[in-house]
Amino acid sequence: MIIVLKPKTSKKDEAVVLKEIRKLGYRPHVMRGVERTVIGAIGDERTHGTLETLVTFPQVEKVMPVQKRYKLVSREAHKGNSTIRLGNGVVIGGKKVQVMAGPCSVESEKQLLSTAEAVKAAGATVLRGGAFKPRTSPYEFQGLGEKGLKLLAKARRQTGLAIITELLSEDHAEMVAEYADILQIGTRNAQNFQLLIAAAKTGRPVLLKRGLSMKIEEWLLAGEYILANENPNLLFCERGIRTFETYTRNTLDLSTIPIIKKESHCPIVIDPSQGAGRSDLIVSMCKGSIAMGADALLIEVHPNPAEAWSDGQQQVTLEGFAQLMQELKPFLVAAGRE
Ligand code: PEP
Ligand code: MN
Repeated sequence: MIIVLKPKTSKKDEAVVLKEIRKLGYRPHVMRGVERTVIGAIGDERTHGTLETLVTFPQVEKVMPVQKRYKLVSREAHKGNSTIRLGNGVVIGGKKVQVMAGPCSVESEKQLLSTAEAVKAAGATVLRGGAFKPRTSPYEFQGLGEKGLKLLAKARRQTGLAIITELLSEDHAEMVAEYADILQIGTRNAQNFQLLIAAAKTGRPVLLKRGLSMKIEEWLLAGEYILANENPNLLFCERGIRTFETYTRNTLDLSTIPIIKKESHCPIVIDPSQGAGRSDLIVSMCKGSIAMGADALLIEVHPNPAEAWSDGQQQVTLEGFAQLMQELKPFLVAAGRE
């Protein structure tokens, strides 16, 4: 930590700060400039007391961290790109941009299996579908629960697609992990730390959506909970944040792609469906995501979006999805991806 003293701080007041730093278990290193004095506090913050409270001293101007607060997810911890291998052999974080596609909610066997077959034929490698749905209103469809998970397992058996589905509650961690190849942590739970720990402990890869109003540092720190609980398989997923804009459901922040790539070794996934909330914008957002270096896309697809039980306005049809996959091809080539 760096502690900056106010200009014209007396030696006596400086000594008070130095004494406190030593008391907390750190070694102070004093740097005297023309205008002001800066003190470096040397020591491991994980085992010593917090220095942040020094800001309450009247002679202290600010206290700043030198190191990043996230460690295991950071590029410093792992220089190369982490790759995540799923049960069906699919690798996320490699040259191939994986496409995870399927309905917002699992509704019925017919709906899920027809979607699974179609997205597989079009080139998707992971099937998405919510069995436990985090709905804004308690009066909206809440998901089929375990029945939905069983349908996802059936779709995996029939198509060979891996499964991603949302984990909503700690109580369901073991059950959902039994059926899923990737556990999705939704935007509303992105800082539900007990849920993150429970997800990490299942040992399944975890896809962590960015919270609705989450700063990137907070997102990286939430991801840190997964790695700190001995699960190395973390995927960050940008799904749009809440802004003043109402043309789109959320504002898809594509700047997170180069930022996550710079700060972390974990793959970055883009969900343009929750991001735009409009099916007509999905193709463009996918093209932009590929150009910017996304490792995977998470796209909502439904055989009949007009009759979907959730998020109908943003789901693409089976034909629309096949067309989208074709349109992305030249963009993958241009980006040096497959
Ligand atoms: C979803 O993927 O259907 C979903 C509810 O996602 P989010 O948590 O991003 O809103
Ligand atoms: Mn949805």
